Amino acid sequence: MYKGSVTEEAREVLRAIELIQLGARMPVLEKELTLSRNRLIRLYRELKNASPPKGMLPFSADWYFTWLPNIHASLFYNIYLFLTDRAKCSRLDALTRAYRLYLEHCESAETERVLSFTRAWTLLRFFEGGLLTLSSCTVCSGRFVRHVRDAHKPAACCICVPPARAGMTRAARANRSTETDTPAATSATRGRAAAALGELSGTMRDTLAEVTRALDPKRSANRLRLVTSVPV
Ligand SMILES: [Zn+2]
Repeated sequence: MYKGSVTEEAREVLRAIELIQLGARMPVLEKELTLSRNRLIRLYRELKNASPPKGMLPFSADWYFTWLPNIHASLFYNIYLFLTDRAKCSRLDALTRAYRLYLEHCESAETERVLSFTRAWTLLRFFEGGLLTLSSCTVCSGRFVRHVRDAHKPAACCICVPPARAGMTRAARANRSTETDTPAATSATRGRAAAALGELSGTMRDTLAEVTRALDPKRSANRLRLVTSVPV
């Protein structure tokens, strides 16, 4: 039985619905909300027509240091910080709004959603636990996700200095293996991967630059305009 007030319980149910719709798993719901486990399972079943998936949440931070996840995680966390520090959203509110903004960005940039809600939440927990931090890129000055132990070493972000094999996704590799392995086919596949990388980097860079500009104290007047102009 919920022991708080009826209105607070109703708010918790609405929060749970929003989190479940965004893809939150049971451990996330139990950590973030005060509703009972049984209540959350019932809500989950009603909304998804399925039982919540079992299994552990990701526990390693290494995933966030690989090329594409690092770009997406950096984008998401910059938006999250903007919403908490400048727009004064509460933690949970900023988490859900930042994730919605991130999804909108992926949709408008026509790029794959790399960061699941669980990954976004875990990222937040790693930051709160002091394992991760943001460093400024030595090239574009955008802030990107790094391990705390590496924070003092100057480095460029994954957008400015992508690894040599960036863009060679599993799908690209699968396409490549089904194509005739002639030099022309191989270079065409590489060309497509490079084009996709170029588009992705451009839009990600624009969004990160926009958030960085908005966080600039000299431009405080523009900050809220950025948030209020984007439907969340
Ligand atoms: Zn950079």
